[in-house]
Amino acid sequence: MLAQTEMLSKADGEAVAVDNPDAAGDVLLVCEHASRRLPQRYGTLGLSEEALSSHIAWDPGALAVAQLMARQLDATLIYQRFSRLIYDCNRPPESPAAIRDVSEIFRVPGNENLNNAERSLRTSSLYLPFQGRIREEIAVRRAHSRETVLVTIHSFTPVYFGRKREVEIGILHDRDSRLADAMLAAASRHLYRVERNEPYGPADGVTHTLELHALPAGLLNVMIEIRNDLIADEAGQVVAADFLSQLLRESISALTKQNNNGCA
Ligand SMILES: [Zn+2]
Repeated sequence: MLAQTEMLSKADGEAVAVDNPDAAGDVLLVCEHASRRLPQRYGTLGLSEEALSSHIAWDPGALAVAQLMARQLDATLIYQRFSRLIYDCNRPPESPAAIRDVSEIFRVPGNENLNNAERSLRTSSLYLPFQGRIREEIAVRRAHSRETVLVTIHSFTPVYFGRKREVEIGILHDRDSRLADAMLAAASRHLYRVERNEPYGPADGVTHTLELHALPAGLLNVMIEIRNDLIADEAGQVVAADFLSQLLRESISALTKQNNNGCA
């Protein structure tokens, strides 16, 4: 039998990171596009430094906001340590968007003409351990009769294909809009421009993590997209995290009250 190729070297480290593993809160935070890091074996994928630091490689600011929220909400945070240029963990293996050879305006030479062995190496090295860790976390919580509210944190680029985006925060949902509805209702009292299923929605295939773990189990869930120019520095990250943590707290407690009154 051929020895299985290892994608990640010792220096690369693990694919998945977990912050606050012993947190007691109901919210489970997930950040699929936390990192722009590439495993050593891929070099630069043939990309310029500009492309490698841009939103095609990661969601700038998203991890910092998620880490602040993890502390504020006493929440566990699971995040991917490698770039979505290698594998986009918010896409299933059969999706053409899981590994892109063109991302927005950038060609990705290192992703062109990949064979099946390379695709499955990337899937088994990054995607499977990541989604597996989320599945395991939710199962352990369920075994201890603990609730899970699944919240994924993303950022988006202010200019896409040359068009400026006015929305500042997107509250995204798939078939289950309970938490998104509550958040949108509460958000109308705040300063950010918050919109439903913008700048993406379920038709764009962006709710994969929610579909995989929250919808089948009936868990409250939402995907949050923050325009990345608002969270480019620590001050902006703190403001966004404070706002979103408060919005989640209010919305979850409103839903829990509704449930307890038997009118949900
Ligand atoms: Zn993202």
